[in-house]
Amino acid sequence: MNNQPITISQTYSPAGHYDLLVAGGGVAGCAAAVAAARAGKRVLLVEKSLKLGGLATLGLINFFVPMCNGRGKQIIFGMAEEFLRLSLRYGYGDVPADFQNGQIPAEKLREYAAAGKKPPRYAARFSAEIFALTLTELCRNEGVTLLFDSIVSRAVTEDGRIAGVVVENKAGGRYYTAEQFIDASGDGDLLTRAGVPTIERGNFHTYTGYKITLDSCRKAAERGEIGRAYQYCSGGNANLYGDGHPDGVAPYFGGDPADVTRYVVENQLELLEKLKSDDRKTRDVAVLPGMCQFRTSRRIAGEYVLQESDTYRHFADSVGAICDFDRRDYLYEIPYRTLYNRHAPNLLTCGRCAAGDGYAWDVLRVIPPAILTGQAAGVAACLAIDGQVPVGEIDVSLLQQTLAAQNVVLHFDDGDVPEVSDDTIEYND
Ligand SMILES: Cc1cc2nc3c(=O)[nH]c(=O)nc-3n(C[C@H](O)[C@H](O)[C@H](O)COP(=O)(O)OP(=O)(O)OC[C@H]3O[C@@H](n4cnc5c(N)ncnc54)[C@H](O)[C@@H]3O)c2cc1C
Repeated sequence: MNNQPITISQTYSPAGHYDLLVAGGGVAGCAAAVAAARAGKRVLLVEKSLKLGGLATLGLINFFVPMCNGRGKQIIFGMAEEFLRLSLRYGYGDVPADFQNGQIPAEKLREYAAAGKKPPRYAARFSAEIFALTLTELCRNEGVTLLFDSIVSRAVTEDGRIAGVVVENKAGGRYYTAEQFIDASGDGDLLTRAGVPTIERGNFHTYTGYKITLDSCRKAAERGEIGRAYQYCSGGNANLYGDGHPDGVAPYFGGDPADVTRYVVENQLELLEKLKSDDRKTRDVAVLPGMCQFRTSRRIAGEYVLQESDTYRHFADSVGAICDFDRRDYLYEIPYRTLYNRHAPNLLTCGRCAAGDGYAWDVLRVIPPAILTGQAAGVAACLAIDGQVPVGEIDVSLLQQTLAAQNVVLHFDDGDVPEVSDDTIEYND
């Protein structure tokens, strides 16, 4: 792949023209594509693998982190709620039964308090494979044109705008044009190819798949719960904060094929070594991650970069209220400006490429907020098309009205800001 933007004169005959081209079919890209298709736009969703869902499915990160404030109130709605429901509809997962219409009833909360317990959080593990299937069905039903096994590899720019992108697949390099583009690649591939500044970072040694054992299958059968048949099996298992990352191993950068290969080889051999001592007749590896379990490669240098100090801060251009997955209480809002850079007038990003710093970015990148930023980017792209304006000049109040009509809660309630926040770390995702 070549990182240099090329000019239209370097000839590729167009393979198709769309209102919107979305690079990457993770949860954020799917949300963006579906949101725009629902607004009547012709959308091409280009995905390099054979499954939708990205890290959430292919990457085996099959857990919707908490979408509530830890005090019994749901905070994140919109397409994050829709996708959560979709992930559970035909799979084995469930959300805690205590939640009714986004709230644990007061009486139930009192019971938890009386027992000295914290209430459950609105979160769910789901079947990765079945969620991938339902995302394909959703995109197909909403009229999104899907292009699998295809990589967005180059950006063709004209007067600062992206005119089209080269997509590599078994047919060779094909050139697609569009009015608007969304980089949902998770790695900032299109941002970089278009010359948009990004922030790069390396990743820890984490590689977790699933295995089954005769014992886990027996227990699953006894409980009548197939989800219990799966157990984690890891090569490296460093956590979000880097605990467990081996000394002397350089962090892996997702934008460097040599690093990606080093990551795959080291982790697979480490996992194989652990498996060698098992009784081979009593267990099998059910599934290995189909993509690097990297939290980040590149994220946009956005017009606004969400900071940890933005906790409990309202933004006039918020496209969604979100909560902290690791700690109860902590609330944020996502400024629309985290999704673009003014030097790229027809390019938005979303998901784990949104602009955040430090732990604020961790809060922003996990599955439910990634879906929200995807939804916001999809709707914003439509407004930019309709108004024939750069993404930084759309009518943000119209964006917000549209999102609110789609069940997005834009601002958290000041009544939910506690006098003292609960600092306990619970998830480490
Ligand atoms: C180890 C780890 C643990 C995590 N734990 C949790 C958790 O428990 N719960 C949670 O909510 N979040 C968790 N997260 C975070 C979460 O999984 C991701 O941040 C989120 O899923 C990102 O979604 P996305 O759509 O932005 O990107 P991705 O899921 O990365 O999707 C990007 C998609 O783009 C495709 N793609 C990439 N490049 C191209 C290209 N050039 N052309 C075409 N297609 C391309 C990829 O194949 C992929 O399908 C974890 C992340 C990691 C790494």
